[in-house]
Amino acid sequence: MVRICKNCGYNNEDSYNYCAKCGTQLTDNVIGTEMPIQFSEESKTRLIIISYIITIILSWGGVVVYLLRAKYAVGYLGFFGAFMPFYLIQAPDKRIRKHGYIMLLISLVGIALSFYLLFYN
Ligand SMILES: [Zn+2]
Repeated sequence: MVRICKNCGYNNEDSYNYCAKCGTQLTDNVIGTEMPIQFSEESKTRLIIISYIITIILSWGGVVVYLLRAKYAVGYLGFFGAFMPFYLIQAPDKRIRKHGYIMLLISLVGIALSFYLLFYN
């Protein structure tokens, strides 16, 4: 048996009361009081970066395609770019929520711009 640190995710010996890596007090997980998955700060950062990439590619895809002179009606692609931010702004973590709102803004600008290019040019 190991005791997984809530703060950093480190697997500690069962007998430890404090995390060997970060010093956080180890408490036994009680079902119902904790999120089933605890993200470490590192994995939160990875999640945020990956979400930015997905959001930008999807939301700005229509703009890029237009600029490449391939005038397919791909503006709708941008809506997929808004899914990730919509998911993130409901996250329990404040930092993830904050970046979710920034991504939502990025995707909405991308969607608006791709529709503008499709219909007014
Ligand atoms: Zn720890």
